[in-house]
Amino acid sequence: MNLVFLGPPGAGKGTQAKVIAEKNGWAHISTGDMLRAAVKAGSELGAQAQGFMEKGELIPDSLMCAVVADRLKETDCQQGWILDGFPRTRVQADRLDETLASASLKMDHCVYFHIDQEILVARLTGRLTCKGCGANFHVAALPPKEGGVCDHCGGELYTRVDDEEATVRNRLKVYEESTAELIGFYQDGGRLLRVEAEGSVEEVGARLAAQLGDS
Ligand code: AMP
Repeated sequence: MNLVFLGPPGAGKGTQAKVIAEKNGWAHISTGDMLRAAVKAGSELGAQAQGFMEKGELIPDSLMCAVVADRLKETDCQQGWILDGFPRTRVQADRLDETLASASLKMDHCVYFHIDQEILVARLTGRLTCKGCGANFHVAALPPKEGGVCDHCGGELYTRVDDEEATVRNRLKVYEESTAELIGFYQDGGRLLRVEAEGSVEEVGARLAAQLGDS
């Protein structure tokens, strides 16, 4: 199955995407993770993206669309994929449809994770990310077993620069201004599934599975 996960930062898209992609053998394509890896590696893409990311702004559509089009050609995408964090603008959504049509592929559903804004601010500002494997924890909702240490790989946990409160609020504003219109776009095309994203990882996962199973 080919899916797009849509929703504001902090809605839990990445966590859910990771779980179902692993379970089904699909590629989990998180554009945020790809860009952070590029920054860490000091690549040209990383150098172009870093300034935008630190301010919580979107990197240019042309660059982002080219990165995703290349990624979708990789062999691990043949069994299915989940795009997490892309598209984020109408231009990206249109380019994605064109890219898929030219490869005789299609997206099966866009899953929209719906959640209250103040819950998001609390979630994001308390988020801890592993420097090693990128796994996410939360100071209150999902604390690591040992303070500051990743349960999965033993890596060091840190707060992403863009998870600081002022940047979080800017990321949510950018989401409202650029991405929220995609809900209507996919809804009108009959491609939207809506999942309530409040609650535990397991609760949201069960709602998601029910939606995908019923679709
Ligand atoms: P995320 O981890 O999905 O919240 O992404 C972190 C940052 O990466 C965003 O705040 C943007 O600066 C950048 N980014 C990720 N995906 C996109 C995208 N589809 N378009 C533009 N910028 C993006």
